[in-house]
Amino acid sequence: MKSKVYILYTGGTFGMKNTGGNGLQPSTWEEIIDYLPAIKNQTFFHYFSEINFTFETLEPVIDSSDITPEIWERIAHKVKDNYENHDGFIILHGTDTLAYTASALSFIFQNLTKPVVLTGAQLPIFHPRTDGIVNLSNAIYIAGYKSFDLVRIPEVCICFNDDVLRGNRAVKTSTNDFEGFSSPNFQNLANLEQHILVNEHLLYRTSTEEKFGLKTKFSDSVVNVTVFPGYNPKQLIELVKSKKIEGIVLKTFGAGNLPTSESWHTLISECESTNTLILATTQCPNGKIELGQYESSKVLNNSIVTDGKDITSEAALTKLMWVIGNFNIPERRAILSQNLRGEIT
Ligand code: ASP
Repeated sequence: MKSKVYILYTGGTFGMKNTGGNGLQPSTWEEIIDYLPAIKNQTFFHYFSEINFTFETLEPVIDSSDITPEIWERIAHKVKDNYENHDGFIILHGTDTLAYTASALSFIFQNLTKPVVLTGAQLPIFHPRTDGIVNLSNAIYIAGYKSFDLVRIPEVCICFNDDVLRGNRAVKTSTNDFEGFSSPNFQNLANLEQHILVNEHLLYRTSTEEKFGLKTKFSDSVVNVTVFPGYNPKQLIELVKSKKIEGIVLKTFGAGNLPTSESWHTLISECESTNTLILATTQCPNGKIELGQYESSKVLNNSIVTDGKDITSEAALTKLMWVIGNFNIPERRAILSQNLRGEIT
């Protein structure tokens, strides 16, 4: 069966060249196509003859270190503008912030029923050993699922080196391995080996019949704080008192533990009186926080604190920014603690 796939190129190593000797910079989609005869002569895409492709570039193309919430909003609008006419979407994106973008998009999209697949590469498409071709081909299978009789993955996902990961569960775990991403607390949504196996029972499906839409606002009044031995949050307390921030992602030790010094109690009560949300997460890549298990986590048993459970750093930060951006103070904490898109167990 024919399927329609929309591909948006945003930049990243996938299409980078070291032209002026200033380090890798993204090239245009035209240069990529020019370089790759298989793409230029349409033989690469002929192989996917059952698919109608739409290509677009999000200008200007960037190193994903330059990604911003405004760009997330522009990507989301591109998907929305093409939503009715396509079966699946591929976003070609740099790997550095790919997990942030995937998490952010997962919250932006309301009632998503089609695959939105993010992918990129560790080696540019211009390199003879590029992983970009495999990653793009694999992403085409997932987004063009209809043509291959595959199960539809109605989620924002990351397709990288034979794995399909839930976008808001993924983290970049290597700067150079082709296996650049992992999903520490959740199984792969699909594996692309000789055969493609979709783990249907894991898929997150929207529970309403409502139409696809966007909620695109993100607040930048948040901070991401990692606790370390001997850390005293006195500057953080001043920041909270000044009301310049509305939320904190607090990366605690182990299962939600903090030093037992009085200053942490002060921080929590200042947060309470200024309605500054705290989303508590763990520094450990695997496992979850369990508030109250140790005496050293009891300070966090407060209504201003949300238990982040096993959420990734990337999902925690984007979720907090998104909740503050889109909801009023009285509703925020309840929404923050919900499992919105399969981001927590
Ligand atoms: N700096 C690059 C980027 O994120 C890294 C990559 O794509 O792998 O755009």
